Amino acid sequence: MTFHGMWAELLPIGRSSASGGYRRFAWTEADGDCRAWFEQQARGRGLTYETDRNGNQWAWLGDPARGDAVVTGSHLDSVPDGGAFDGPLGVVSAFAALDELRGRGARFTKPLGIVNFGDEEGARFGLACVGSRLTAGALTVEQAHRLTDAEGITLPQAMEAAGYDPDAIGADPHRLDRIGAFVELHVEQGRALDLSGDRIGLAGAIWPHGRWRFDFRGEANHAGTTRLADRRDPMLPYAQTVLAARREAELAGAVATFGKIAVEPNGVNAIPSLVRGWLDSRAADQESLDVVVAEVKKAAREYAATHGVDLDVERESFTPVVEFDHALRDELARILDTGTDLKVPVLGTGAGHDAGILSGRVPTAMLFVRNPTGVSHSPAECAAEDDCVAGVTALADALEGLACT
Ligand SMILES: [Zn+2]
Repeated sequence: MTFHGMWAELLPIGRSSASGGYRRFAWTEADGDCRAWFEQQARGRGLTYETDRNGNQWAWLGDPARGDAVVTGSHLDSVPDGGAFDGPLGVVSAFAALDELRGRGARFTKPLGIVNFGDEEGARFGLACVGSRLTAGALTVEQAHRLTDAEGITLPQAMEAAGYDPDAIGADPHRLDRIGAFVELHVEQGRALDLSGDRIGLAGAIWPHGRWRFDFRGEANHAGTTRLADRRDPMLPYAQTVLAARREAELAGAVATFGKIAVEPNGVNAIPSLVRGWLDSRAADQESLDVVVAEVKKAAREYAATHGVDLDVERESFTPVVEFDHALRDELARILDTGTDLKVPVLGTGAGHDAGILSGRVPTAMLFVRNPTGVSHSPAECAAEDDCVAGVTALADALEGLACT
């Protein structure tokens, strides 16, 4: 099956007819359809198919028990109303690269793996990269058991409903020990390649990033009869805090976003009793990120106090800076060097990836494919067809250089 054929099969799965975006959340029906597609692609190519204890899917050419395996892949789940490329481009390109290598008559000297990591986006349970975190031991079983979605369904319940055994989850060091190199291809989530005029880039580092929950608690009351002076309206300090986050991010050269909010009682004619907002912030270095978050918290406390509102801030997740393996990156740069002046550019990124989680345990690299608008986590996310084809060729070259004679 060609790249186009695979792409066309995946395209309708989990797509909202209203928004045109994807809703492929972990352990839902759409996610299950994506998983069934992966298994079918694996078996159709005569690969050995397995799911690991954390529900990640693997397809093997050669026996991974031999060790020093070369693995590529990404994820198939999405953010709410996400685009078609974030995740699936890496998985489809992995199968397409294998097909290309077989077409070239490549002789594999190392086992080759293709992986679909589960629950990368964290759209349902609020924590990103759950599949790879569990496998790498970066998320404990106890922490995973406490993850709950908006309907109150826990991660174990959701896994069980999807036909997986939640009692099996946990760190899988033996599996990671067998991997000599992991390469994730991903659509770029920014415009660096578009601006430099390159189709393909290599990842340098992933910025440190985290999520913080801000609970502003005031007093619910009638929107028509309560004098302004008598209100304890948590929406006001929340709104000021959103502006403060923008200001502090600009000052630090970082990014900070309140993109999710919950309001109680959420009535159009009621002053809210609670405004809960989630801050996502990322910066090129730890120090800048610490400054941004500290300043936003300080501002939020002051605004809350001004309005007689209580504030609680809790850090829900945090991922330190990830420097990808320099030796592997240099090797890929050599492999992808076309002999012209054009070297493959090395980019930093503010987006988290399974590759970042694995990089603590396995030599890891990432290839980025140009995104002409830089838009991601939106139905407008895109990549040109010939850039995707260039991505498949680059990935095939990389895998050939790493896993073949
Ligand atoms: Zn992704």
